[in-house]
Amino acid sequence: MVLFRQLFHPTSSAYTYLLADPSAREAVLIDSVFENARRDAALVRELGLRLLYTLDTHVHADHVTGAWLLRQHCGSRIAQAATGGVQGADRLLSDGDRVAFGTRYLDVRATPGHTNGCLTYVLDDLSAAFTGDALLIRGCGRTDFQQGNPATLFHSVRDRILSLPDSCLLYPGHDYRGLTATSVAEERAHNPRFGGDANETDFAVFMHNLGLPRPQLMDIAVPANLRCGRPEGGGGLPDEPDWAPLTFTFGGIWEIDPQALAERRLGVQLIDVRESAEFVAALGHIPGARLIPLSSLRAALTGLDRERPVVTVCRSGARSAQACALLQKAGLSRVANLAGGMLRWHASGLPVEESHP
Ligand code: FE
Repeated sequence: MVLFRQLFHPTSSAYTYLLADPSAREAVLIDSVFENARRDAALVRELGLRLLYTLDTHVHADHVTGAWLLRQHCGSRIAQAATGGVQGADRLLSDGDRVAFGTRYLDVRATPGHTNGCLTYVLDDLSAAFTGDALLIRGCGRTDFQQGNPATLFHSVRDRILSLPDSCLLYPGHDYRGLTATSVAEERAHNPRFGGDANETDFAVFMHNLGLPRPQLMDIAVPANLRCGRPEGGGGLPDEPDWAPLTFTFGGIWEIDPQALAERRLGVQLIDVRESAEFVAALGHIPGARLIPLSSLRAALTGLDRERPVVTVCRSGARSAQACALLQKAGLSRVANLAGGMLRWHASGLPVEESHP
């Protein structure tokens, strides 16, 4: 069995794939996206995995890889195509190489034509392949820049992807309609560019007449991807919260541990979002906490100090997570949820009050 997640970047309609050996807890991530590095690092951590490699299928023109940033977050190594012209990778991959994670591995297949460095990663048991932009669902990547070549792509797809077993699932680098996967049999039968009796000439004419606009991000994305996604001069890095040691969750919020909160309790606005009866019941509340039940929080937004960080609190951390998301949406930037709520605060032996202030 392999642990598998398909992740999405809406802005570029790009897919990122997490693959892991569930017993060895080792993982690889294919085609990560810079803006999603924090999210993907959170998923890796929450699933208890160790990220060994970030792999890219090619030098993307429409988004920046998260490879460099994930190396900072997770200590993963960066693997890139040897032919892609990329600088700063930890490992350069060529046709026939294997990338192992636990007892599983991906086979590296060179599938040039969209770019000259395109790779397809094939899972060891041939049950799945990650085609990047060489083959998309009922389509393929363009061939009009980045050393693209229709004849090369035609043969890459026909001979190296559609030659896999019929049942092999194919996972593309993008899908602009929200479709998620296809199979070799399906694309062989129905892909209008490679399927049926289409030949190299049909394909070349098709590709020369696509009339696509130049990707908006190309002049930024390609140079950045040639540096494995390392921002130039250290600029352009996502802001890290500086007011407390926080952990980002895959659910999209920041969390603070009870001990970290106890140490800086006086500098933050503590918002307890339980009902008033709970505030003074057995669990009590954190000294200095202000009671604003979740159902009243929206109406109370104007009474919050936007300059001071906010920590939301409830019994278990569930309602306060929703409060946190609500405050983020309302434009408050320094907001965190107390992880585990009052239950964990108690378990940590930290002080509580039981009466109304
Ligand atoms: Fe591409």
